[in-house]
Amino acid sequence: MADISFSPGDVWLVGAGPGDPDLLTRKAERLLALATIVFHDALVSQEVLDLIPKQVMQVPVGKRSGRHSMSQPAINGLLVKSAQNGHRVVRLKGGDPAVFGRMTEEVDALQAKGIRVQVCPGITAASAAAASGVFSLTRRGSTRALTFITAQGCGNGQTDIDWSAIAGEQTTLAIYMGRAAAPHIAEQLIVNGLKPSTPILIAVNVSSPHERLIHGRLDSLALLMAAVGDRDPALLLVGDVTHAHAETADLSSEWFDWPIDMASAPKVRVCA
Ligand code: SAH
Repeated sequence: MADISFSPGDVWLVGAGPGDPDLLTRKAERLLALATIVFHDALVSQEVLDLIPKQVMQVPVGKRSGRHSMSQPAINGLLVKSAQNGHRVVRLKGGDPAVFGRMTEEVDALQAKGIRVQVCPGITAASAAAASGVFSLTRRGSTRALTFITAQGCGNGQTDIDWSAIAGEQTTLAIYMGRAAAPHIAEQLIVNGLKPSTPILIAVNVSSPHERLIHGRLDSLALLMAAVGDRDPALLLVGDVTHAHAETADLSSEWFDWPIDMASAPKVRVCA
């Protein structure tokens, strides 16, 4: 086993994966055992936190959409202070720190103070969702591209996303933080050329005991998303690859393979 370089005053940004503690890397687990303090997100599961040795300090700095408990500058400040005080600091983030994880802000703040930062990757939600649904995110010859997008902040329809560049039949879209913007996403993708019948998957609480895989069509996205609990993390996958054969899918899968009349859809809450 390779040595891990983790001196007092160092910071490791560590991916906690999607929730299942067995999806944590061995390196992440070793880093948690070497740390003296761990700052973690709300997205990190209790089962993963339970792997942190008792003597290691745990500090929740959780942020959930709409419920910011600590500002990013405050988190940066805490990381810097702890490293300067000689802690071995782990910053534990849901999934992979390099995917919509505010990693750049933290690395920049730490490096600006001359603090050594290293990164341990984690399994991102899109990979875990595809694994649960037993399908590949790419498919030779027909799905040549995989696009990771965040739709956070476009709930009110205001967005700087160029949907025409994103909507492609040979592309799988992995849309993070897309709950509030679901009606807008569906509308824009269809306006920009995707078929209303394009298969989608809403993957909720992936890899946890409360996992739900909701399969449907793009034109039913808003209605299906409205059925997802407010606090449950939900990833949206759009594209033909999500249409795996029902018999290979997990028992927790739900299939809505017909168009749903949007006129009868309940109103979807839109974020500010
Ligand atoms: N760094 C994380 C993403 C953080 S952004 C990663 O690599 O996975 C937070 C968003 O990720 C959530 O709003 C949701 O869209 C998605 N997400 C994270 N974990 C998830 C899970 N277990 N199940 C479903 N979606 C998840």
